[in-house]
Amino acid sequence: MTNAPETVIRNRDRIAALAQSYEQEMVGFLRDLVAIPAESSHEKPVVERIRREMEKVGFDEIRTDPMGNLLGRVGFGKRIIMMDSHTDAVGVGDPKEWAWDPYKGKVEDGFVYGRAASDQRGGMASLVYAGKIIKKLGLEGDYTLYVVGSVHEEDCEGLAWLYILKEDGIHADCVVLTEPTNLQVHRGHRGRMEIEVHIRGRSCHASAPDRGDNPIYKMMPLVREVEALNLRLRDDSFLGKGTIAVTDIRSMSPSLCAVPGACSIHLDRRLTAGETKQSAVAEVKALPSARGAEVEILNYEVPSYTGLLYPMEKYFPTWVLEENHPLVQAAVGAYAALNGKPPVVDKWTFSTNGVGSMGLMGVPTIGFGPGEEEVAHSVMERVPIRHLVEAAKFYAAFPLTYASAVASG
Ligand SMILES: [Zn+2]
Repeated sequence: MTNAPETVIRNRDRIAALAQSYEQEMVGFLRDLVAIPAESSHEKPVVERIRREMEKVGFDEIRTDPMGNLLGRVGFGKRIIMMDSHTDAVGVGDPKEWAWDPYKGKVEDGFVYGRAASDQRGGMASLVYAGKIIKKLGLEGDYTLYVVGSVHEEDCEGLAWLYILKEDGIHADCVVLTEPTNLQVHRGHRGRMEIEVHIRGRSCHASAPDRGDNPIYKMMPLVREVEALNLRLRDDSFLGKGTIAVTDIRSMSPSLCAVPGACSIHLDRRLTAGETKQSAVAEVKALPSARGAEVEILNYEVPSYTGLLYPMEKYFPTWVLEENHPLVQAAVGAYAALNGKPPVVDKWTFSTNGVGSMGLMGVPTIGFGPGEEEVAHSVMERVPIRHLVEAAKFYAAFPLTYASAVASG
């Protein structure tokens, strides 16, 4: 039933007992992380707090790259296994919507509540203590494990991984994302892109609109055509349907007493299997009212907290790893060895750093994380404490399982 190595199977009870014994330390560490409101480009304090915990539990090497991504290393073997937890968090929105302090890490009924508890500092709490379990139980093997605290994910997922894999000189064999999966193994999700469509007209005084050419009127039929396009987009049995939605409309007018000279819409496009940047742009350009319009893919150009600017086009490709891929099978094997039953294998609804690691860079990627995706970014955000323990077990058992499977396969 399991393809986990003998060492993992023999140690399963000790892995479980040790993870359980670290429960309170993981909860304490997580509450410290929740108390740091680090939005994208402001991750420095949370990165420093994670570094201290890595030092405390005995990682072999800890460094930050020029972008500010934290790289904690365990072991020094042939297979390069990278496990990621992004360090930034979204804001709290309207504070009045919260029934408790989002930065307190309230502990109640077996959960830690608060902003970023599930998305995704819970994953980091489990990862750091998995490093400790690996060291204590001698679960090292012919692999190098990097625990990565990445930056920028909430504003531009994938960017940190584009940088790590292109610029840091690390040749990863696989990436494990620790975004919330409710302890399931996830093997992909839809992609997305951010598109703007601009239609130009001719501005004039609004008291005599006939002198101009109002681009808002020309945009109206295009908005309807986008709505209709959404209904025709392709479906996929695993990933679900591609979607498109107008999420903003604005005009450039010298005054509210002037016909504007330009009108723009913002399009949120979710891409399912088989849909690409080229196909998505071509569909918009082919809309009857888009003739003469300019279709633009936006860029992300915000410096990281270290001041590094690494621009990226806001195209986040769809990625799916086939179910029988050795990486998925190693994750299934590690889980089954620990729990006596196979995990559920599924996908995310939201987008993750996998768009960078696998979508753009082609490194096989999976996900396994504590907490539920559904509460991310909401005022009900929380993570079950039991999940922190279960995820730490998995993260401790996975690297050796993967390295053994790849070596023998
Ligand atoms: Zn996240």
